[in-house]
Amino acid sequence: MRIVDIITKKRDGFILNESEINFLIHGYTHEEIPDYQMSAWLMAVFFRGMTIEETAMLTMAMARSGSMVDLRAVAGIKVDKHSTGGVADTTTLVLAPLVAAAGVPVAKMSGRGLGFTGGTIDKLEAIAGFKTTLSQNEFIQNLQKHNIAVTGQSADIAPADGKMYALRDVTGTVESIPLIASSIMSKKIAAGADKILLDVKVGTGAFMKNIADAIKLAETMVHIGQLVGRETRALLSNMNEPLGQAIGNSLEVEEAIDVLDGRGQPALRHVCLSLGANMLNMAGIASNRNEGYQQLEKLIDNKQGLQKFKEFIVAQGGNGYIVADRTLLPQAKTKSVIISNNNGFVQDIDARQIGYAAMRLGAGREYKNQLIDLAVGLVLQCRVGDFIKKDQPLAIVYSNDNTHLKEVQSLVSSAIIIGTDQVPKTKLILGIVDKNGFIAM
Ligand code: URA
Ligand code: CA
Repeated sequence: MRIVDIITKKRDGFILNESEINFLIHGYTHEEIPDYQMSAWLMAVFFRGMTIEETAMLTMAMARSGSMVDLRAVAGIKVDKHSTGGVADTTTLVLAPLVAAAGVPVAKMSGRGLGFTGGTIDKLEAIAGFKTTLSQNEFIQNLQKHNIAVTGQSADIAPADGKMYALRDVTGTVESIPLIASSIMSKKIAAGADKILLDVKVGTGAFMKNIADAIKLAETMVHIGQLVGRETRALLSNMNEPLGQAIGNSLEVEEAIDVLDGRGQPALRHVCLSLGANMLNMAGIASNRNEGYQQLEKLIDNKQGLQKFKEFIVAQGGNGYIVADRTLLPQAKTKSVIISNNNGFVQDIDARQIGYAAMRLGAGREYKNQLIDLAVGLVLQCRVGDFIKKDQPLAIVYSNDNTHLKEVQSLVSSAIIIGTDQVPKTKLILGIVDKNGFIAM
């Protein structure tokens, strides 16, 4: 087999077979195929696409490029949850302890933030002592004992994806549905969960800017799950405005505690409970989504979710006292308030620009491996649809190094559009995709 023949076959729009796909992925993982040939192949896929069967074969080849985690030692149906990434997307920190408290083992591999999006592993590192790298044994032991474990992705999970993603990033081949779907699903499958719940974000602050593309991506991933025997479901959720109020690592940990303590703002709470309800339903703990939703509400009311969050922190070496005393989290030196210049309704909050502003403060990375400041960030004081009076706070900025403060203030001010028209609140959950297809909600 020659790699150039596989490239030209895809370039001319033909369908690749399993041995061709395996040859390509195996060769690339083992450095037998150079970046320039892989780049050409990725661009051919970008223009020609792949059938669902090809995409499933690609996914499995990528999943098998490294180690496949075996979670059979952990009793129960393990459901993993994955978000395609957004701004103020604090769902994992809320969901993981809640769902674990409901009796479903939560085995989660999470990532770091990049660009305008945040990552769960960075957020957890705001907790003193918290260990974000667990060995496979520690991961399994914590699951058996506490029903919950969250770890950073180890280098041997789907290494083909790591290499391909870095290449896609610099060759204009990120925005391809078969490539995004296989990238996400290969990691989830290698991480060992029995079932997968996807949170596909739609809007200005997400990869998928419109609902049609989001449905197509969700359907592709659900179909892959079906073809490889891992039941997959996808919620489509709105990422036109930031989901939570807080953007920034320790600020998001605080907001997660608020939600678990029953004091959080309703939008983040609703998306967390909707995702969690599906996880409970998929694990067989709830017979339908409504029942799952109610079970999770109870675990907020009786503080069992919050208790589980503390147990989880301590189990991974972190300071559990942060749950009762937020001043134990990294604190920013200065706090400034951005106020409204006029009366009116909030028309729009540009999630991407807000995420970018938080990154400029130091909360996120412009490039891989950049050091970030865990204390800094923004806390929004309004949501789309709210009526705002002149001089009312729109956002609070928490900063340490004030070099970019002026720029950040102007980015935040211009991201929040105030106007005279009354506008509805953002619809949070747009629909769901399961094996029966898309259902609007
Ligand atoms: N997230 C991933 O893990 N891969 C992609 O290709 C896009 C988003
Ligand atoms: Ca918007």
